[in-house]
Amino acid sequence: MPDARGAVDFDVVVVGAGISGVCAVHYLRTRCPALRVCVLEARARVGGTWDLFRYPGVRSDSDMHTLGFSFRPWTDVETIADGPRIREYIEETARAEELHAKARFGRRLRRARWSSDASAWTLEVDGPDGAERYTCRFLWGCTGYYRYEEGYTPALPGLERFAGPVVHPQRWPEGLELEGRRVLVIGSGATAMSLVPAIASRAREVIMLQRSPTYLFERPREDEVVRWLNRLLPPRWAAQLARWRSIALNMTLYEAARRWPALVRRFLLTRVRYGLHRRELLAPHFTPRYAPWDQRICLIADGDLFAELARGRARVVTDHVAEIDARGVQLRSGARVDADVLITATGLELQVLGGVAVEVDGAPVHPGERMLYKGALVEGVPNLAMSLGYTNLSWTIRCELTCEYVCRLLNHMGARGYTRCRPGPPAPDVRRRPLIGLRSGYVERARGVVPEQGTRGPWRFPQNLLVDRRLVGGPLEDGVLELS
Ligand SMILES: Cc1cc2nc3c(=O)[nH]c(=O)nc-3n(C[C@H](O)[C@H](O)[C@H](O)COP(=O)(O)OP(=O)(O)OC[C@H]3O[C@@H](n4cnc5c(N)ncnc54)[C@H](O)[C@@H]3O)c2cc1C
Repeated sequence: MPDARGAVDFDVVVVGAGISGVCAVHYLRTRCPALRVCVLEARARVGGTWDLFRYPGVRSDSDMHTLGFSFRPWTDVETIADGPRIREYIEETARAEELHAKARFGRRLRRARWSSDASAWTLEVDGPDGAERYTCRFLWGCTGYYRYEEGYTPALPGLERFAGPVVHPQRWPEGLELEGRRVLVIGSGATAMSLVPAIASRAREVIMLQRSPTYLFERPREDEVVRWLNRLLPPRWAAQLARWRSIALNMTLYEAARRWPALVRRFLLTRVRYGLHRRELLAPHFTPRYAPWDQRICLIADGDLFAELARGRARVVTDHVAEIDARGVQLRSGARVDADVLITATGLELQVLGGVAVEVDGAPVHPGERMLYKGALVEGVPNLAMSLGYTNLSWTIRCELTCEYVCRLLNHMGARGYTRCRPGPPAPDVRRRPLIGLRSGYVERARGVVPEQGTRGPWRFPQNLLVDRRLVGGPLEDGVLELS
């Protein structure tokens, strides 16, 4: 973009060097090579989520052929990968994309102020040696969807009285002693499902306490079809085919669950019944009360959780916490569970734009009160994009769609001499609704924090790649986006 009104430090500042930040850098490098790009990253290295989470068993809960980048296909034999390997893959990709030459690590963006007079953002950043300031034409938040400082812990009465260590998986302490101890994991989301089997062999016993059952889907870490593709085809071709196969399978399961919930429920429960070596556990602990895909389906890798339940090293309790005391948890049913270590696998504290305070011409903007335009730009805010993912497909799939759109927009603006783009006010008949169409606890907590979507036109955020592709790929000048 031209410097219409005075010089700025950068054309584009990308905030975050996780999967989304690396994606943004690739697309900017290949599609908008003339732009001056800077990456601000609060942590000391790339990886984001995959650098932060260090709990035992941390792994992908979707397949790596779609969590991996289309421009650097995942070619490992394992379809489900461990956290450290995923971070390594992001790091390798970042180096290949020369992200490090653009990146400034250890820098947290605190405040972003847009000035219409200057047609630029001023960024206030906490750097390693104090406050720093940058200016840019376009700001791109690749900051994920949750707070890094702290995970979410619900009000658990008496938690402070527990005598042993209380650990949230988001802050796993190095060297936590589990040998011979009884460990109580509160929660049954994706984190608990991978953590429980990973620590079951070390602890005396692991108890997973859940309020209600979750749908599970068992998959092997190494997929037979992918292995077969790898034998027949060059690695990149095999990886691309595996990627499209996975997208097709996931979309089919999701669409089927929406249309025929009873049928898909039966299919999922039948699979779990065969996986569980102790079938009496199915009804009380693995039969959810809601329809499939009202909440996320959790992945079980190589049946590891089922195997630990069968061995008796892990067990599931479905009940509510009444009160926690020094030795364990008193349950609402009257039963109790004693424990030496308590792990609160209770989820994430949702946040968008990395908690940055945003101002437009001096007026504060709360992204949670705005809608997203084409799932990428923020209603009424000039020159601001954010990368978010789908809930029913790997994050990277939507993230790449956002990158394609933002780069197309930046090139269009450059070619026409525009310095400002702003999604205009929505038509009066566009109604607001949550961006994420699930009913999980964390989606409830997203209200007022995560931007919303609209019921119509470019304000929609469909959880369907084909529909979304058409929407995002439509004309740039659509009468809603104001370009000036
Ligand atoms: C345990 C776990 C497992 C997951 N497994 C999967 C999976 O299997 N498949 C899937 O699709 N999704 C999964 N997800 C979701 C996952 O977060 C995304 O897949 C993806 O990693 C998000 O990438 P991101 O770059 O957008 O965000 P993040 O990985 O969260 O990276 C954001 C980066 O922005 C930086 N940042 C934030 N705020 C600021 C600021 N103000 N200033 C400077 N830097 C800032 C952070 O330090 C971080 O490096 C998982 C999430 C968790 C927590």
